[in-house]
Amino acid sequence: MASKRDYYEVLGVNRDASDEELKKAYRKLAMKWHPDRNPDNPKAEDNFKEAKEAYEVLSDPQKRGAYDQYGHEGTNQQMGGGQGFGDIFSDIFGEIFGGSRGQRSNVFRGADLRYNLEITLEQAAHGFETKIRIPGVSSCEPCGGNGAKPGTKIQSCPTCNGAGQVRVSQGPFSIAQTCPRCHGSGKHIPSPCPSCGGAGRIKIQKTLSVRIPAGVDEGDRIRLTGEGEPGVNGGPSGDLYVQAHIKPHSIFQRDHDDLHCEMPISYATAALGGELSIPTLDGSAKIRIPPETQAGKIFRLRGKGIKGVRSQHPGDVHCHVVIETPVNLTERQKELLQEFDAISVANDGKHNPRGKSWLDKVKEFFDG
Ligand SMILES: [Zn+2]
Ligand SMILES: [Zn+2]
Repeated sequence: MASKRDYYEVLGVNRDASDEELKKAYRKLAMKWHPDRNPDNPKAEDNFKEAKEAYEVLSDPQKRGAYDQYGHEGTNQQMGGGQGFGDIFSDIFGEIFGGSRGQRSNVFRGADLRYNLEITLEQAAHGFETKIRIPGVSSCEPCGGNGAKPGTKIQSCPTCNGAGQVRVSQGPFSIAQTCPRCHGSGKHIPSPCPSCGGAGRIKIQKTLSVRIPAGVDEGDRIRLTGEGEPGVNGGPSGDLYVQAHIKPHSIFQRDHDDLHCEMPISYATAALGGELSIPTLDGSAKIRIPPETQAGKIFRLRGKGIKGVRSQHPGDVHCHVVIETPVNLTERQKELLQEFDAISVANDGKHNPRGKSWLDKVKEFFDG
């Protein structure tokens, strides 16, 4: 694989470029290399993707910080763990290429957000309710959300005369573009509100209740409609997806609705049989070990697994028998085992039919 180009180099900006400069540089490249405009140039798509990736990283302060510090290495771990996974391209370019939004071109739906929630297997099985804190925004109080310093007035943007859009010629195209001065609002604020810097919104932490339904599995997402990033210029908010991540359990491994566990037993129990208490997610259950139980045998407890969100019935618990070879033997135990083994050998394979048959095969093999 060819080594990756530096993201700043890709966008052709300095390392201290502002968000605005990044956005501008990206727009320019994306317009130039958009596959729809370069149907006969296979390189265009690569260039386009390269620019998109660079912009995705550098436009996110967290990822940009990691990139500045660790280079491409730093961003790989961050990918996917980040917050917004809305398509940046459509967020910025929806007004140019998308056209499906139907509303005024500068009205955007907010990005969807993801929140990673770690839960235990028990919580996943039974369902539970929890509170999460996520960053949000709220209308700025001093200015009432309009961004102007209290007592001052908002004017029309002089560049677009309040339309929010300007027309730009690009070769044969003449396209409407969001006004670069007012970013589509059509407004000009001569004295911005000192509390919010003219944005009209301030960042807050909000607390949300999330109900995790019984049976959720790793990676399942619960959607909280409208709790994502707020829309721009009156657009609807995005959604928040709470994604469940199930912590490893000390006893069980989950496979959809089934649970698997290891069940170590002594070889006296394996040979003579016995009864064992084993835990399940709703209390303990008893398993009868029949005499002459072999290693690897699986005991199934029907219906003691998990009832999935969309399942009709709960799954099963599968207990995999592991026969534990005894350790730290006393002299007396060794004596007994030697005596035991001597009787087995004297009985010529009667007690170890599999071992006997295997030895016979090996002998045949060498005698040919
Ligand atoms: Zn304007
Ligand atoms: Zn304000």
